[in-house]
Amino acid sequence: SIPLSFFAGIGGASNAGVLIKGSNYLETLSQVKAIVFDKTGTLTQGVFEVSGIHHNKLEDEKLLELAALAESASSHPISRSLQRAYGKPVDRSRVSDIQEISGNGVIAKVDGMEVAAGNDKLMKRLGIDFIPCHHVGTIIHMAVNGAYAGHIVISDVIKPHSKQAIHDLHRAGIQKTIMLTGDIDPVARQVADELGIDEVYSELLPADKVEKVESLLQNKPSGGKLAFVGDGINDAPVLSRADIGIAMGAMGSDAAIEAADVVLMDDDPLKIVKAVKISRKCLRIVY
Ligand code: ADP
Ligand code: MG
Repeated sequence: SIPLSFFAGIGGASNAGVLIKGSNYLETLSQVKAIVFDKTGTLTQGVFEVSGIHHNKLEDEKLLELAALAESASSHPISRSLQRAYGKPVDRSRVSDIQEISGNGVIAKVDGMEVAAGNDKLMKRLGIDFIPCHHVGTIIHMAVNGAYAGHIVISDVIKPHSKQAIHDLHRAGIQKTIMLTGDIDPVARQVADELGIDEVYSELLPADKVEKVESLLQNKPSGGKLAFVGDGINDAPVLSRADIGIAMGAMGSDAAIEAADVVLMDDDPLKIVKAVKISRKCLRIVY
């Protein structure tokens, strides 16, 4: 039988914007000793500003337009940011044959041209000779009709409370904080260093993230549970693999909300600290 105060705990948590799907998750949450975070949209805002456009033949504006059109069906934070930077409504009738390759980017037909927008991995997959880019930021390489067309450099910002949240979690006895990302290593390290995250793994495809979580589960602090926190874009498999999956924000995809054990109602990382504290308090009352 489920002790009554579990219901009170779940109810109290939900008033604080922390939805816990069952009393067993409340208990698991109280035992968490390692937390794995996804970067984009979880610790960073996932709202990228365009910081540079470097083209080969096309005008900057044309490159941005092709990117915005090719990305028009994606709900990835990168896509939303490119739409915003483009600033005009996108005429979807100009776009067809859209393919989104998770952790790589998108390919689509725009005005009859084959447009690819994504990272190094996408360019390699398509066999396109590209110029490696050394700018600090997330790089969207572009190819048009099989030829390299330039790149757009975008940068994301850390959420205002991320550093405080990591600090508070460590103080609350969380022994290990880990960040996983599909983004490139220099960006990943910069974010992790600034936040005081213990371990960081970059350039991971969604399947690599699942593998990483599996190996972290083998090596977690003894007796403790491992949580994964993500914003939901491509994160459903990792959310279900961790001892406890926490989906963040109303922006989270339906698949993530479904796969998660705990859903945070807003994007504030301090809600993670709150969730852990509520669960412990409740467990102390029960036992
Ligand atoms: P994260 O782990 O930071 O949440 P993702 O796994 O969603 O990142 O994406 C990893 C990388 O794949 C991005 O940094 C980007 O280079 C590329 N990528 C993914 N989706 C897109 C997209 N829609 N457009 C362009 N690039 C993308
Ligand atoms: Mg993500």
